[in-house]
Amino acid sequence: MELPAPALLRLECSTCDAEHSPAELQTICQVCGRALFARYDLDAARRTLTRENLGRRPATMWRYAEVLAGSDAADRVSLGEGLTPLLRTPRLGAELGCDALWVKDEGGNPTGSFKARGIAAAMAMALKLGVTDVGMPTAGNAGSASAAYGARSGIRAHIAMPADTPESIVSEVRNYGAELQLVDGLISDAGRLIAQGCRENGWFEMATLKEPYRVEGKKTMGYELWEQLDGQLPDAILYPTGGGTGLIGMWKAFDELERMGLLGPERPRMFVVQSEGCAPIVRAWDAGAERAQPWEDAATVAPGIRVPAPFADDLILQALRESGGSAVAVPDDAVVPAMRQMARTEGIDACPEGAASLAGLRRLLADGVLHGDARIVLFNTGSGLKHPELRPAG
Ligand SMILES: *Cc1c(COP(=O)(O)O)cnc(C)c1O
Ligand SMILES: [Zn+2]
Repeated sequence: MELPAPALLRLECSTCDAEHSPAELQTICQVCGRALFARYDLDAARRTLTRENLGRRPATMWRYAEVLAGSDAADRVSLGEGLTPLLRTPRLGAELGCDALWVKDEGGNPTGSFKARGIAAAMAMALKLGVTDVGMPTAGNAGSASAAYGARSGIRAHIAMPADTPESIVSEVRNYGAELQLVDGLISDAGRLIAQGCRENGWFEMATLKEPYRVEGKKTMGYELWEQLDGQLPDAILYPTGGGTGLIGMWKAFDELERMGLLGPERPRMFVVQSEGCAPIVRAWDAGAERAQPWEDAATVAPGIRVPAPFADDLILQALRESGGSAVAVPDDAVVPAMRQMARTEGIDACPEGAASLAGLRRLLADGVLHGDARIVLFNTGSGLKHPELRPAG
């Protein structure tokens, strides 16, 4: 099916508004060094981006073609990412005392996590702009995704990840034929190594929010919630937060929807869920700070949220403030039971990060921050199959 072209106009700094050209490769703002956001001609986009038209388009994230940079190169990159189910979960809801609970289940994405969305969008733009090699520091799943989408699009992926990343994820990366370096350290250490590799070898760096289009891919989760809830949004969204790409992206999506006249001013309360072993955003939130300090000795069974120093900490905290949300940390020993609970009550094979969001919901209900009558969406960001080390023994 022929989709409309993306109405991409320019890249704009999230902090100082400096404009950058999307016709060239861009990473961060050349003026102030902060994250760049893609800006679209939303008046043009709204003419064809209607719910009626969407209903006739492919069941992938690329259906939001007008507002998705790289959609004109999607057929050379896509593995069918996005448009994951938004599952109503009454049994789980009943155990928690929630009347209206949904799980947005990202586990069915290619490479088993929602990283597929961001990497597919970034890879599509990289391909359009002639990139041959990308460098990617990762806590795990972005490595699987960039290895797969690199293979799919013919771009060589150079990946660095912590040596203690679950073996299932390490072997995924190797299986896709990417170049992999295991680092004795965390994603931040992998980041330094990749930055050096990019400088020395001319690879294009695709670290979270240091590249403008991963957040575009992930924002499609916001469009999907709106479409799947018939043009409405829930009262609360719980999101297991590492670099915060998905949370920042959804917040951007809601803004775009409103500017296109497809949504009113109402917004969900956005909740960050982190692990007690790595909770830089929660600590900053509790202190009322606008920036987060790096977390020392980060450790958790949920690798996707083991991000000690998120680059766009300020944008995450801003979305929490603007939405009336908050941030909550959960202990690792609540994560595995939450994986079991999702599996047992609803047949959802949650990853530990998704299970953390369930544990976070328990906390927010117990603390009276959320109430049982709220319409709540939990994000399960990946498949439990990626974590044999956390499953019941055979
Ligand atoms: C990367 C990752 C996260 C965190 O996503 P961000 O948008 O970067 O905060 C959560 N869960 C899983 C499974 C991940 O791979
Ligand atoms: Zn700037």
